[in-house]
Amino acid sequence: MQSAPDSTRLPSYLNADQPGPWAMFLQQLDRVEPHLGELARWTDTLRRPKRTLVVDVPVRMDDGRIVHFEGFRVQHNLSRGPGKGGVRFHPAVNLSEVMALSGWMTIKNAAVNLPYGGAKGGVRVDPAQLTRGELERLTRRYTSELGDLIGAERDIPAPDVGTNDQVMAWMMDTYAINHGSMQTGVVTGKPITMGGSLGRRDATGRGCYVVAREAMRRLGMQVAGSRVTVQGFGNVGNAAARVFHDEGARVVALQDVGGTLLNEAGIDPHDLLRHLREAGGTWANYPRATLLPADDFWAVPCEVLVPAALEGQITPEVATRIRARLIVEGANGPTTPEAEDMLHGQGCTVLPDVLANAGGVTVSYFEWVQNATSFFWTEQDINARLDRVLSEAFDSIWHIAQERRVNLRTATFITACSRVLEARAMRGLYP
Ligand code: GLU
Repeated sequence: MQSAPDSTRLPSYLNADQPGPWAMFLQQLDRVEPHLGELARWTDTLRRPKRTLVVDVPVRMDDGRIVHFEGFRVQHNLSRGPGKGGVRFHPAVNLSEVMALSGWMTIKNAAVNLPYGGAKGGVRVDPAQLTRGELERLTRRYTSELGDLIGAERDIPAPDVGTNDQVMAWMMDTYAINHGSMQTGVVTGKPITMGGSLGRRDATGRGCYVVAREAMRRLGMQVAGSRVTVQGFGNVGNAAARVFHDEGARVVALQDVGGTLLNEAGIDPHDLLRHLREAGGTWANYPRATLLPADDFWAVPCEVLVPAALEGQITPEVATRIRARLIVEGANGPTTPEAEDMLHGQGCTVLPDVLANAGGVTVSYFEWVQNATSFFWTEQDINARLDRVLSEAFDSIWHIAQERRVNLRTATFITACSRVLEARAMRGLYP
């Protein structure tokens, strides 16, 4: 005879025993729960995504084969507004990862007080292996499979690792065709010519700089002349390196899948970018820096380290080699909880992803507002508003950290979870 399911146990797909990003997210919730007072009775809401969709994405390849890809969209929480969060195309995408990323979007959106819940999507695919036509067919089929789950008032995708403004253009177009009307606000991070926002492309990297600048001010550090290292030269790392450089910091090391570069006098990221765009320009043949073995990146002496690649990069083993005073999490989930504890023990402050990389979704929000009103702002205006939103969020989170004697991640989670769970409690359960 089958025993009755134990209702106090988590559903099987939420298995917290498997190490990985979702287990990390649950651990972070455990740490915040004692600080939530009365609202703690609602915390389990955050331990289960509200809605999880897994779809088959069949694609006709250029050589005639039909290949099936796994697609996901998870709406983690919708208590404060429609779902919001990117779509990732990467070979390591799986349900656990998308669930964690959606949970971090709930926290991030609430931490900077955007009127959104949290969501995330992804397809388990290596986009670099697809032709442009295959990538377009994959994107359109995935969007079609999401059906009515997305929409400007329901759930609004955006770029993430492996996706960009072109992918958003295909998503918007597919949605418009399937629904018989154009809704620019169904996705953000669109090309400027189709309702995208100025400043969106660099917003996540710029936000990393703003939050770091605020932290450095409180820690008695100077931006000008400080040594910065950046892991990842994609959507986030590339912009972060450029903004730090333009603000007078010295970018001494950069790492990407193409290689690891070091120059103690500073690398000009604009120059590196130009070099990589030239025919035959690679990381290995960049003339104005030395090529390092990948593993040496972490030990490069610096004041600020920006991990802007993938999750799980800073493990306890890596943490022991880090010499930075400040870590700015441009990526989502780059530091494991054990490594974070060690870093704090070493006197290194970690600016958590859910605050440090919130600049992207903040300008996504500006884009969505501009789409709703069909009135577009200047880039200067957008950057100034972004700066204000992030500096104010940083200031209040810094105070909570001081007051409660917790690290900045827990302080950000306290702020965000209080907002989400208060909304949850006020809305009540139906029926
Ligand atoms: N993918 C980005 C993130 O992880 C941006 C999400 C958005 O703009 O909705 O925050």
